Amino acid sequence: MEVSFSREIESLRLGAGETFHGEGILAITKALLQSGVSYVGGYQGAPVSHLLDVMVQAKDYLGELGVHVEACANEASAAAMLGASIHYPLRGAVTWKSIVGTNVASDALSNLASPGVVGGALIVVGEDYGEGASVIQERTHAYALKSTLCLLDPRPDLPRMVDMVEHGFRLSEASSMPAILELRIRACHVRGSFEAKDNQPPKISTREWMADPAKFDYMRLAHPPVTFVQEKLKHEKRIPAARQYILDHQLNELMPGRHADLGIVVQGGLYNALIRALQQLGLANAFGESDIPLLVLNVTYPLVPEQVADFCAGKRAVLVVEEGQPEYIEQDIATMLRRRDIQTRLHGKDLLPLGGEYSVEVIAGGLVPFARSYLGETAADSASQWLTSNRERRAAVSAQLTKPLPPRPPGFCIGCPERPVFSALKLAQQDIGPVHVAADIGCHALGTFEPFSTGHSILGYGMSLASRAGVSPMMQRRTLAIMGDGGFWHNGLLTGVQSALFNGDDAVLMIFKNGYTSATGTQELISTPTDAAKALAQDKGNSLVHTDRTIESTLEGLGVKWMRKVHTYEVDTMRSTLKDAFTSEFNGLKVIIAEGECQLERQRRIKPWIASLLKQGERVVRVKYGVDEDVCNGDHACIRLSGCPTLTLKDNPDPLKVDPVATVIDGCVGCGLCGANAHAATLCPSFYRAEVVQNPRWHERLWAGVRRAMVSALQPAT
Ligand code: SF4
Ligand code: SF4
Repeated sequence: MEVSFSREIESLRLGAGETFHGEGILAITKALLQSGVSYVGGYQGAPVSHLLDVMVQAKDYLGELGVHVEACANEASAAAMLGASIHYPLRGAVTWKSIVGTNVASDALSNLASPGVVGGALIVVGEDYGEGASVIQERTHAYALKSTLCLLDPRPDLPRMVDMVEHGFRLSEASSMPAILELRIRACHVRGSFEAKDNQPPKISTREWMADPAKFDYMRLAHPPVTFVQEKLKHEKRIPAARQYILDHQLNELMPGRHADLGIVVQGGLYNALIRALQQLGLANAFGESDIPLLVLNVTYPLVPEQVADFCAGKRAVLVVEEGQPEYIEQDIATMLRRRDIQTRLHGKDLLPLGGEYSVEVIAGGLVPFARSYLGETAADSASQWLTSNRERRAAVSAQLTKPLPPRPPGFCIGCPERPVFSALKLAQQDIGPVHVAADIGCHALGTFEPFSTGHSILGYGMSLASRAGVSPMMQRRTLAIMGDGGFWHNGLLTGVQSALFNGDDAVLMIFKNGYTSATGTQELISTPTDAAKALAQDKGNSLVHTDRTIESTLEGLGVKWMRKVHTYEVDTMRSTLKDAFTSEFNGLKVIIAEGECQLERQRRIKPWIASLLKQGERVVRVKYGVDEDVCNGDHACIRLSGCPTLTLKDNPDPLKVDPVATVIDGCVGCGLCGANAHAATLCPSFYRAEVVQNPRWHERLWAGVRRAMVSALQPAT
């Protein structure tokens, strides 16, 4: 990983009396060290990648503290690490993106939660829900309910978030329940400050070893018959212990307000949005003080029945602000009130949307009818006007448009090595006909957008090859499964490759070998080339990915007999290799390794190197592509085959032509795809390749001068 987190690592070293400034997720990272964590593991994914990335780069400092860091192969292996807490009084934390990561980890979580923990076990999940999310819209809450895990959802305020990390460990130890700390995208990126404490070197650590393993204890195994006892312990001992801890330490916050006969119960993570919405109704001030009493749930599971009942009793109505569906918290509260025969009217999803992100506007939309019903018809006038004017402003803007704005889907980076493969696949299908494509998670999923629109299904990270097993036996043409090297190691090797080989499936698998898990922030993999290989490749000006053969040797070892390796920018070769795989006589798994280093990482690697060469006065040649506007015939086949953001359109300089011409704008990294596509698809000959020479030699300057003079002599005077 080339991104440097040295500034963040400095923040981790802050001690008592110093002030931390920064983002929520870094504050959580620091809080783990202040809590005496013994080990940290996880699998990267937005919005919590930063936690693990920083920890991995801070390994030297963590080594001084005795904290072990593990960049796990997937979320299941991260969750399994928490098994240490089943026997030993050491604190462990793991992290991943939810809901997808929690799905992968759920087997280990069930087996952890059943025996319960001795040392605090904290799972920091990035709740990737709502605007900007990149995964399926589901709630982690369901896992807390089904496996009996504490679920913390702290108010997005750095001191509170930091406190909740420490309490998360203690709550876990007091109740024997593993705890999940749920952070929404906005909580991860909220900025603020808190008074730091000294980091706590863990009592058991890589520097303070345990002399002996724990005594054998069958009760600590998630194995029958003790699983029946463990289930009883969950509701007889652990949940009551957790509730007591929550009450004793006031983890949920009661905030009074002058309308004491009303109340709002809110998930901690939604507090900031709720206060902003209340301000629109004139029911909260700039300091976050609400006129309606609030019960802020920094722990959303388990709820404390007495606390909820005390809050609701005697009120005319209570509104539950709970994001996502189904309404677990509202249902839980309704049951608590019913069982106690408390007649307070309960609102929630009747006034607020069942699904989707609860932005300020959405919450205000639910508060308006609530305030009108209980505070009078005019109580919500200001918010109602605000919502109406927002709607009118949007309507006015769209009325000015002559046609709808074109969608702007995300796309591959400029020069991405994966783009050419989709160009080749388009061309190959022109020859052999359309094929079923099982897509996967990763940068290559960007191929599902225009201009490629490739992929019939995405079933999970590394699941493409497995998912085609139900399709390919019924399909006349062979199917294609696409996977990145990240997905291959995360899951694809076992669920897909092993299964296909074991069953003797006739399948085609394309593995993008770009050297990193690029989509999650270009973290390193077991097959990432070493630093020495990178330095060697740099000296030779080569792409470095081909230096590592871990994927190839693994596949050979498993028994893959048909394997081809193609550099991704060789569009014509990739097209013929794809055709070969689809039509070959060979009946079995066919694997195409698409080689090409992630361009983002490549640029990070070579930019400082080129800058240093230029500084030393060395000659440097950069390749750029361009379009000759006099030759371009305006059919734009090149754009439909590429989708590169730097290959775009401009007005036709010929006054007799109306169609815009293609043009390559500044930013082209000279990846070569334009030339390869023009050749493979026999496009019009308008593309040219230019070499930009920096620090040219004396004879190159001389020749350039001669050429310039000749060109100007041949041009007619204007
Ligand atoms: S991060 Fe790398 S692999 Fe992903 S789209 Fe960008 S260049 Fe391609
Ligand atoms: S060569 Fe073409 S595809 Fe490659 S970066 Fe330049 S414009 Fe984009």
